[in-house]
Amino acid sequence: MTRSFPNAVDVAIVGSGPTGAAYARILSEQAPQAAVAVFESGPVLTDPPGMHVKNIADPVARVAAQRSSEGLRPHTQSPEGHYPDPSRRVVRPGTHLLPDGYRQPGEDGLPALAMSTNVGGMGAHWTAACPRPGGAERIAFLPDLDELLDEAERLLGVDRHPFDDAPYADVVRARLGTEFDPSRPEERRVRPMPLAVRRRADGALAWSGSDVVFGDTTRNNPNFLLFADAQVRRVLVEDGRAVGVIVRDRIDGGEREVRARFVVVAADALRTPQLLYASGVRPPALGRYLNDQPQMIFAVRLRDVSRQPEAEHSPRGDTAIAEESGVSWVPYIDEEPFHGQVMQLDASPIPLLDEDEPAPGTIVGLGWFCGKDLQESDRIEFDDSATDDYGMPKPRIHYTLTPRDHETLGRARAAILRAARALGDFIGDEPMVLSPGASLHYQGTTRMGPVDDDTSVCAPNSEVWGVSGLYVAGNNVIPTPIACNPTLTSVALAVGGARDIAARLAAEPEDTKDTKDTKDTAAST
Ligand code: FAD
Repeated sequence: MTRSFPNAVDVAIVGSGPTGAAYARILSEQAPQAAVAVFESGPVLTDPPGMHVKNIADPVARVAAQRSSEGLRPHTQSPEGHYPDPSRRVVRPGTHLLPDGYRQPGEDGLPALAMSTNVGGMGAHWTAACPRPGGAERIAFLPDLDELLDEAERLLGVDRHPFDDAPYADVVRARLGTEFDPSRPEERRVRPMPLAVRRRADGALAWSGSDVVFGDTTRNNPNFLLFADAQVRRVLVEDGRAVGVIVRDRIDGGEREVRARFVVVAADALRTPQLLYASGVRPPALGRYLNDQPQMIFAVRLRDVSRQPEAEHSPRGDTAIAEESGVSWVPYIDEEPFHGQVMQLDASPIPLLDEDEPAPGTIVGLGWFCGKDLQESDRIEFDDSATDDYGMPKPRIHYTLTPRDHETLGRARAAILRAARALGDFIGDEPMVLSPGASLHYQGTTRMGPVDDDTSVCAPNSEVWGVSGLYVAGNNVIPTPIACNPTLTSVALAVGGARDIAARLAAEPEDTKDTKDTKDTAAST
């Protein structure tokens, strides 16, 4: 059956990850009269849409949801449940790797560059760590950054003390604190990692996804529509203004035009610049200043801790993570330009151990993420003559680590070893540097800037320079070399952009609503 798309909306949002959802939520709160439609390339996985797959109780259904997020070439899984890694690239369930073009001769490339294609985006698969940026990670030209970060915490449902009662959490933090705190200002000392997680009435943990960001306010908004399996192929621009989108219905293959007064592209750090490029919006900084956080991991077994009685472990079924050692954070400071997180391996996206049977919570993984030395030459190039699996301009990655990056990695290695020695006994000989792209935190490709000087793509309100009504969202908007997990910051920037659109809608009222007769169809996506 052919579904209906509206002929026109006030705001068309491309992508349903946390940042696209943040636009929908703020607009539902501040401009409830506006017709807002989210178009998402991938399928809907859950009810409500956008829920984190870790909250799916049935393990078979959870794996099916992960496979459905992996684009047109989903991973195959071995009978033992492992993911074969033929290209030795890091493979995460729920994500799909860029099949080719990820490295050019003589460059480092981003072999582990990955994306998710599903309602909720990567936010249906993430670890939900939500630290705040500090020092040079912060965006100095945004005076209201802290207030925006507060709002982002509200939207994501961030808990700053999620595992305070975990049996080994105090031990982990005390040992890290003794090692790192003496040289740090109070606000950048070792602390619990803020996580977008809440405890349900039955005691289980529920991880925030786009469902939480949308919230009931968006879901109950009669002027809000969500279209899954709906790929935006082009943003329509007329006389320097965004006026709509061309959407491919991936169910029937048909293409429709949807007019819009504002278009928000929140399609991740690869596909946001790709869509702008395909739409003929090609400012000089588009795709440039690409940065990923060089990442290093290690593992230790906590020293001198007593085994907790089995009954106190994993009491909440197999969807809850074990939470004995909590998640601890060694914040970035300019003098040590890396971000450390220490968490028990059950919660880590990277499995390190195949055969060890540790007491729950006593094996902790250490992940150190570095701030990248930004270069204009690190970029995504798009091909006018070749297309990717989705028929969009084919991307080609140019990426190199500089001497300064190697120096930072060396210092991060020393720091992770300090942390490991403080905590316990090494598992393995050496910290392991993951292949570039493994952080899943790609930034900069539609970066924000204070002025239009060809080194940025959008203004501080996230509107693309020179294209009125076209906004960009995602980690790609972050202009600084953030080393910490970036989603809280990119959601904060989305809040700022959404407020800007809400204010403009209020200042320029115009009735373009044409959604009523499509609502029933859309609700079934
Ligand atoms: P995404 O969530 O990537 O969503 C983009 C959406 O746009 C996708 O659903 C995609 O299908 C859709 N799309 C793309 N092109 C089109 C198109 N043309 N038309 C329509 N739709 C389109 N971040 C943290 O901050 N903390 C963490 O602890 C953390 N852990 C992670 C662990 C894992 C395993 C993974 C996979 C990610 C993790 N991340 C983490 C990263 C985090 O998930 C992302 O930063 C976040 O999801 C980005 O949100 P977004 O809305 O910008 O983009």
